[in-house]
Amino acid sequence: MTWIKRKFSRKLGIALFLAVGTTLALADFFILKNIKTYLIGELKDNLVSQAKQISAVLDPGTFTKRDPRWQELIRKMDQSSGTRVTIVRKDGVVLYDSEVDWKALETLENHADRPEVTDALRFGEGSSIRYSHTLRSDLQYAAIPYPLMQDAEGTIRLAIPLNRLNNEMKGFANILFAATFTALLIGIGLIWIILRWSAHPLEEMTRAAESIANGRMDLKVRERSEDEIGQLAKAFNAMTRKLSSTFDQLKNDKNEIEAVLSSMVEHVIAVDASGKVIFINPAAEKLFGIRGDNVRGRPFMEAVRQAAVSEILKSVMGDDTERFEEIRLILPEERFFEARAVPMQGVRSERRYLLVLHDVTRIRKLEQVRREFVSNVSHELKTPLTSIQGYAETLLAGALADSKHNRDFVDTIFKEADRLNRLVNDLLDLASIESGRKKPQITEFELAAVVNEVHGMARSRTEKTGVRIENRVPPAFLIQADKDQMKQLLLNLIDNAVKFNLPNGSVAVESSESPEAVTFSIKDTGIGIPEKDLPRIFERFYRIDKSHSREIEGTGLGLAIVKHIVEAHGGSIRAESVPGSGSNFTITLPKNHSSI
Ligand code: ADP
Repeated sequence: MTWIKRKFSRKLGIALFLAVGTTLALADFFILKNIKTYLIGELKDNLVSQAKQISAVLDPGTFTKRDPRWQELIRKMDQSSGTRVTIVRKDGVVLYDSEVDWKALETLENHADRPEVTDALRFGEGSSIRYSHTLRSDLQYAAIPYPLMQDAEGTIRLAIPLNRLNNEMKGFANILFAATFTALLIGIGLIWIILRWSAHPLEEMTRAAESIANGRMDLKVRERSEDEIGQLAKAFNAMTRKLSSTFDQLKNDKNEIEAVLSSMVEHVIAVDASGKVIFINPAAEKLFGIRGDNVRGRPFMEAVRQAAVSEILKSVMGDDTERFEEIRLILPEERFFEARAVPMQGVRSERRYLLVLHDVTRIRKLEQVRREFVSNVSHELKTPLTSIQGYAETLLAGALADSKHNRDFVDTIFKEADRLNRLVNDLLDLASIESGRKKPQITEFELAAVVNEVHGMARSRTEKTGVRIENRVPPAFLIQADKDQMKQLLLNLIDNAVKFNLPNGSVAVESSESPEAVTFSIKDTGIGIPEKDLPRIFERFYRIDKSHSREIEGTGLGLAIVKHIVEAHGGSIRAESVPGSGSNFTITLPKNHSSI
């Protein structure tokens, strides 16, 4: 049984049952009482009329003295009618009694004080009900004076036991009780049916309310009538519709917010007033290497052991004032974040705090690179400039006239100026490739021809050092690339391969291809590159053993330019080296340039 039935129907049922039961019981009681009163009245009237019949057949003076014939007659009357007949003289002496022997009449006590007798003499009729020890039963007595018209000589009293009437009453009461009980049973049945019928919509609504509580919003209760229950059903359905649409709206909003938070690159964490995690977005999960399901409900400081983050949260929780600061985390690599911690108002005014971390590592690293770049450029420019300035000063101070050295000084000034020029050109090239302004102009050409061209450009250096350049690229090997940029790339790589070679060493340019890409390599037999420096040689201004490298002319920008050209073509470059034996630079360019 549902709550409604237990609480409401049963209560109502019991109340109705008690009300109907009590009413019927009272009705029975009064019915029985009235019937008994009526029957007793009838009985009494009957006795009076019998007494009157007896008196009618008697002559006045009949009862002045006892006569056994009268006694016999009275006894016979009693036997035939079951009515006790007593004739009492005016002074109370019992002359005759149908239930007493002739002889025993003498011994009967005086009846002058019997209420029916005194009433009969006084009012012309008397009656009473008394218990008779002789007959062991209640008796109905009725008496009239005799004779009726003249002064009374005595009274004729009739009595009848009430056993029969009582028995009849009992039988009647039994029938009445049986009828009442049957009526009550039918009543209970009807009440039960009515209650079930009227409780049904309430039960339906209860079930619907329970389903709503379990998240099912599509249930509708039937609106059967226009009465209060019908109106309640209508109101209930309206409420469900409203709830459902509000719920859908909330769900949509929540999904949208979750989608936004999930797709955000910012790291978002929300905690409650006690610092327990209530939300963490995927970016933050990834950053701290934790899973939302595992940390939700746990104290944030315990779940994320990062002092800097804990500190900022602690401080915003301390005074409810927004915080914005940059923090540095070791995760284990160093990363920088702009952290914003704000207090929020939750439902029921609970305090919540939101922490958003914005990764600024790239910006900070770029700033650092820029700073280093500026300092490197200044440094690289300063060396030749100082040298030029120094030699120019020396010349001005009189060395111009020194015919033995003045030429050397001017030659040095020229070389340093040339170095400055190359440096600036390299910087400009790098800047334009890096900025994306100089987009590769893709054409198809023979790689071998470009290698030969570069070979020619490097001839002065090769002749000096005796380094051989072997162009092993087949003449018909075609590549699709920006020809000028490829020329510069090959020049830088071949120049390095010659520069860092050993006297009479060699440089080999080879090529191969796959369906997707072309590959070519520049392999030398030179001094090689130490393993620790290999990952850094493509950085700007990076030179191994700077003092030594500076002797061999170079700007430290050649490989940086090479790397940028390769990347602009959507390709890759790999450097391998065995110190003392030589280095090998391998470039792979995709054939499909639509990916660039
Ligand atoms: P540079 O103008 O000094 O040649 P690069 O960027 O071209 O600058 O090269 C950076 C450094 O890498 C060089 O200074 C040199 O120490 C090293 N390096 C480059 N190519 C070779 C090579 N083929 N053999 C040995 N070392 C090389």
